[in-house]
This record gives sequence, C-alpha cells and structure tokens, in this order.
Amino acid sequence: MIQVKFWGVRGSIPCPGPNTMKYGGNTACIELRFPEVNRHIIIDAGSGIRELANSMLKNDLPKGPISTEIYLSHTHWDHIMGFPFFVPAYIPGTTIKVYGPVTYEDEPLEAVVGGQMKYRYFPVNMGDLAGNIEYHRLKEDPHIDLGDGIILSTAIINHPITALGYRFSFRDAVFCTAYDTEPYRNLFITDPEHPDYDELMAYEGEQAAREQNLLLEQFFAGADLLVHDAQYTQEEYENGKIGWGHTSIESAIEAAKRAGVKQLALFHHDPERSDSQLDQMSESYCQGENGRNMELFFAREGQEIIL
Ligand SMILES: [Zn+2]
Ligand SMILES: [Zn+2]
Repeated sequence: MIQVKFWGVRGSIPCPGPNTMKYGGNTACIELRFPEVNRHIIIDAGSGIRELANSMLKNDLPKGPISTEIYLSHTHWDHIMGFPFFVPAYIPGTTIKVYGPVTYEDEPLEAVVGGQMKYRYFPVNMGDLAGNIEYHRLKEDPHIDLGDGIILSTAIINHPITALGYRFSFRDAVFCTAYDTEPYRNLFITDPEHPDYDELMAYEGEQAAREQNLLLEQFFAGADLLVHDAQYTQEEYENGKIGWGHTSIESAIEAAKRAGVKQLALFHHDPERSDSQLDQMSESYCQGENGRNMELFFAREGQEIIL
C-alpha cells in the first residue's frame, strides 16, 4: 500500500487567498507513506512542506525520532522554497536524506538547496540545523533499489533545467510523477516556405521529438497514479507559453491515456487559476469521454489517495 497526500499543488509561487482556498495555494509537496514497511518519502519541498512538517511534529514525533527522504524533482524555487521551514530539520535525532538532480551549474545539491539558508536570505544558517541531513545527487536510472521492496526509477523530463520524474513501485502499487515538463517538440524549422527549411532536418526533428515523448510515456505506463504537469490550457500554451517547461492539460490527458495510466492527477496549477476556474475545468476536462477508461482530477491540497 502507498498512501499519497498532496500538501501543495501549485506551480511557480504560493498564492494564498480567498480565491484558492479549495484547491490550495501552496507550491509542490507530495507525501508518500508505506505503512507496511514504515517508510516515509516526501516529493518536493515547496511551501506545502511547512504544513506537512506541522503534521509530522504532531503525529510522528511522539512515536520517536523522525526519519524521512525528500526527493526533489528539480531545484526551481517553487520546489525547494519550503525546505528552511521543514521544522524536523532543526530537531536533534531527525534523519533526512535529500535526493535530487543538480542544475547545469554543477553545484552540489547541498549548496543549491541548503544555500537558501544564508543570513542574506534567511535568519537561520544551514549550519544551525540540528538534524542529520545527507544530500545525494540523482541521475536518470531505470532501477534504484530503495530497500524494503521499494523500487525507484527516474527519468529526465523536458524542462529548462535538469528535472526528474519519479516512479516508485511497491508490491502492486505504482506511483509516478512527471512535472515540471513539457512535451518534446521539433526544434527544426518545419515551415516549407521558410528560407532555411531543410526537409531532412525537419523530418529528423519530428522523429526525435516523437521518440522522446514515447520514452516518457513508457516511463509512466500503467501507473496507478500519475501526477502530471498541467499548468496551462492548450490555448494558453500556444499563446506565448511554448518553451516555458510546462504541459497543457490536453496534452497531459492524451499522454496519460496512451500510457494506460489508471488515475491522473493534474498538477502544478497556474497561480492565477481560481477555485471557480478549476471547478469549471474539472467539469469540462474530467467527465465524459476523458474519464471513460481513466480517473482524472485536478489535484487539491489535502487530498489523500491510497494505492
Ligand atoms: Zn515548478
Ligand atoms: Zn520548474
């Protein structure tokens, strides 16, 4: 069994307020619990991790020292900004293993994530953390044995910096993430009227994009729950958001369907998206034909799913 809970579902920046109370205003943070083997995993340390920390202090700390693993999809700020507010890190006896890809600057993860805790940004320095914190760099790897029967595979996804999708398998359950990502596209000129058009290059670009998209679909194929980037509508995407590293809701749904995903959580909502808009979009995207062979929904802060 994998118990999944969403603590933050937004992209880009926290957006609290009366218009986001239902779906929540915190940035990316997902909790996985494996109760049969007593393992605890957090995916991303967006602002949602603060409330998760409060819950762990109340429910887990009384049972003994906290031990958790944090998997970062990438180091954009909306995915790491909550780390300095993860209170268990300040408690002696806590063990935290932080995993993630590093950025193109090739700085260690510790400097990128922990570097937020410098006096210039934050009143507490990283050296003041009392817990035992280890940082591990992750790369693309189809098979990482995490012990206790948990298998992880990672895939590089399409974002302006190195970002990883995660696929956790435990017994019969498969949980998968693919955000922040954008469908691969042909990077060559495809307009035959363009003076620099090259038919062969255009063809090869098309093939390469198709193959990369297929590989990513194979990565999340058959997942019991896929949490996928869905920041924009297709119309928004085509009007100025191409190349920003995010997926349209339409593309996310089509990819998940082709991959035979059982449940699709549309995730990384645009901060401008209000509750009433998300409710309307739920009606238009999640019912009827789209929901025939796959359950799909716009992820909501506080939502829990058992796999
Ligand atoms: Zn993001
Ligand atoms: Zn990002």
